[in-house]
Amino acid sequence: MKSGTLSHNLNSIKGEIRKCAIDCGRDPNEIQLVAVSKNHPAESINEALRLGHDSFGENRVQELCEKAGKITQRLKWHMIGHLQTNKVKDAVKHCKLIHSVDSLKLLDKIDEIAEQLEKVQSVLIQMNISGESTKYGFRQDELVACIPEILSMDSINLIGLMTMAPHSASQEKIRLIFQSLRLFRDELSRDFSIPLKELSMGMTNDFKIAIEEDSTIVRIGSAIFGNRS
Ligand SMILES: *Cc1c(COP(=O)(O)O)cnc(C)c1O
Repeated sequence: MKSGTLSHNLNSIKGEIRKCAIDCGRDPNEIQLVAVSKNHPAESINEALRLGHDSFGENRVQELCEKAGKITQRLKWHMIGHLQTNKVKDAVKHCKLIHSVDSLKLLDKIDEIAEQLEKVQSVLIQMNISGESTKYGFRQDELVACIPEILSMDSINLIGLMTMAPHSASQEKIRLIFQSLRLFRDELSRDFSIPLKELSMGMTNDFKIAIEEDSTIVRIGSAIFGNRS
């Protein structure tokens, strides 16, 4: 990527997020941008850090660790991809937030490791709203049944939900998926008296719809770092 491009992209995405929030009557400061750096080198992250951005998303733990080893500045890592139980230790060591918790077994493991590391791990539960969007994620009835157990885990802090819309979905369908996530969050929050403040939804192609539907964390890769090879 040419020098100057990243700075331009980052500023322009931040401007679009701001404008979109204001246009739908929201406070722009309640929307966090996670810059998805997967498949891009540590040097791109360093450049973004120099530009003042400090939250990055990776979908593979190994890649995250390799990059973390090359970066000295403090930053906030977000795990956004499917996590295998044997990679949980490294994920918990590094991540401020794990977005992609897609099974109770995984959550159990995160709780166990976080306790060993004397950390309380913030997590989001990944939901499979459309039933087809991805292989991964909880169904709504499944999560409802698990909530009491999740709330009893001492080293887990459940702060919200995450979802992904299918690549091929129409704008209308994407909006319905994001609306369903929000409504389901509201329902859970009411029924179990838990805050669940965060909704992680919205990527390069659908972040404006997500913000209109109350997203608090957008995960944007290609619009910031360029296309992935
Ligand atoms: C790759 C990825 C993103 C970013 O996708 P872009 O379309 O490049 O913005 C967001 N969320 C998840 C879970 C991803 O895997």
